[in-house]
Amino acid sequence: MAYATITKTDSERAAANMPDYATERAAFTWEAARARLDGLPGGGLNIAHEALDRHVASGHGADLAIRWIAKDFSRHDFTYADLAAATGRFANVLTDAGIERGETVYSLLGRVPDLYVAALGTLKAGAVFSPLFSQFGPEPLKARMEIGGAVALVTSASLYRRKVAPIRAELPNLRTVFLVDGEDDPAEGLVALPAALERASEAFEVARTEPEDMALLHFTSGTTGRPKGAIHVHEAVVAHAETGRIALDLKPGDIYWCTADPGWVTGTSYGIIAPLVNRVAMIVDEAEFDAERWYQILAEEKVAVWYSAPTAIRMLMKAGAEITKAFDLSHLRFLASVGEPLNPEAVVWSAETFGKPFHDNWWQTETGGIMIANTAAMDVKPGSMGLPLPGIEAGVVSRDEAGNVTVTDPGVAGELALRPGWPSMMRGYLHEEARYEKCFADGWYLSGDLAQRDADGYFWFVGRADDVIKSAGHLVGPFEVESALIEHPAVAEAAVVGMPDETAGEVVKAFVALKPGFEPSEALERELRGHARKRLGPAVAPREIAFRENLPKTRSGKIMRRLLKARELGLPEGDISTLESDER
Ligand code: ATP
Ligand code: MG
Repeated sequence: MAYATITKTDSERAAANMPDYATERAAFTWEAARARLDGLPGGGLNIAHEALDRHVASGHGADLAIRWIAKDFSRHDFTYADLAAATGRFANVLTDAGIERGETVYSLLGRVPDLYVAALGTLKAGAVFSPLFSQFGPEPLKARMEIGGAVALVTSASLYRRKVAPIRAELPNLRTVFLVDGEDDPAEGLVALPAALERASEAFEVARTEPEDMALLHFTSGTTGRPKGAIHVHEAVVAHAETGRIALDLKPGDIYWCTADPGWVTGTSYGIIAPLVNRVAMIVDEAEFDAERWYQILAEEKVAVWYSAPTAIRMLMKAGAEITKAFDLSHLRFLASVGEPLNPEAVVWSAETFGKPFHDNWWQTETGGIMIANTAAMDVKPGSMGLPLPGIEAGVVSRDEAGNVTVTDPGVAGELALRPGWPSMMRGYLHEEARYEKCFADGWYLSGDLAQRDADGYFWFVGRADDVIKSAGHLVGPFEVESALIEHPAVAEAAVVGMPDETAGEVVKAFVALKPGFEPSEALERELRGHARKRLGPAVAPREIAFRENLPKTRSGKIMRRLLKARELGLPEGDISTLESDER
């Protein structure tokens, strides 16, 4: 089944921040993008100033910055002025506690307002912010805090007791722990944050950070192995601002919802920085995924721009389109997705269900911001990641043994590569110089993902280099096979791996989770194999299909194919620090 291109109307194009890709691309420079931001009085650049104080200074202090929705559905609003004041207090508290510029402050919090204040307050103080995902256990927390040399942590009393207290003795650098709901305990270096904020002044002169000063330390998802700590600098805000504007079509005053947790890069770059820099009103939901709750929020809050992930979209598909009918979703203007390949079936489903397709975009922790995207004015080819954004040069390349890199022809799969130089590119993997150096060859940054380009320049994801299967001389990209399986009405999710085989080298094996109402059976297995053979041909279709209740995923929602394969072969599981706990 070939998927028809979803075209945009003239009025949709005209309304987009980037009405014409070619024109914008030709005219674009990062210098001009930088000039659209403020910079600090007297020089320097600071993310928090661009996100908050700049808007207050230009008369937008009363605009809504965050509407926080608690688990019980109570709502709490924070204006730009509120956040500017709260982060000023937080920066004073840090400074008073002796935390110095360049030192790293971690957060370990659910999606509560303190998290947003801590992130931007830390940046105001000139310290480095590193968010930890609240569902990590003590070991992954310790590993990440050791790498970044945590001097301070912002967390809750219960998270502290359960997860940090047991490892505290092994973190000698961790001087101060700010508790958003606990008591002072000077002997343990515990500070009750609300009282400290109360005592502090909201006036704080933003630290005069330079563009190249380190601002954020983000850990990768650990999908392919041990997570890496990517270093990002204040200059990244130039890319956050621009990509928010052109890839997510954010306009001042928009109601915007990024469903990612700030424990991952998407939840920080596009769940804190890009929206605030673009002066939108952002929704933060404290609760976990629930299809009805999500539709209720989209409807009641009149969300215009919604940024989510394939795993969530597949769960919405699993819940069925029927339940959307009870909700008024007519305020949705632009839908975007990131984190994993977005199956064409999901694009078509969303276009039918919401009247607007999800727009896939591609980037990584390392790139700091969106690189390749389907933007608001562009026609969408379901299954494609779109075009490189203005200011981004992307290529599909092959590498020879000597390290020479050549750009492949359209239609030929190769490694997805980028020309370094955009503002949010990582500046290193912390303490892992060699691992960082290995990402570059011949003037390119090599992403570790495989893709191909079509004749129109659109990029198509093939698979992670580690996940690609070589079967009887064919290169099989798991994404294509998984997408074909998902077209079948019984299939909710699929993961495809290569199993060693004497004659073919590898054969394709699929793991499938079914939609409600379907039961695993031999007949269904046969039917799915037949469906895949018809769609893909016998060389690429899975030889074997196994049913699973759930597929193993990282806590950021990415299918861990390497783990399925290791378990199947009885091999060591490798680093599973980011595996969802119910999969252990
Ligand atoms: P690790 O590097 O630790 O193995 P990870 O690569 O999953 O983990 P992230 O930086 O969070 O960590 O994820 C980036 C990766 O996610 C990309 O390299 C790519 O493999 C995948 N990805 C992101 N967006 C897309 C997309 N639109 N289509 C396909 N894959 C995507
Ligand atoms: Mg990666």
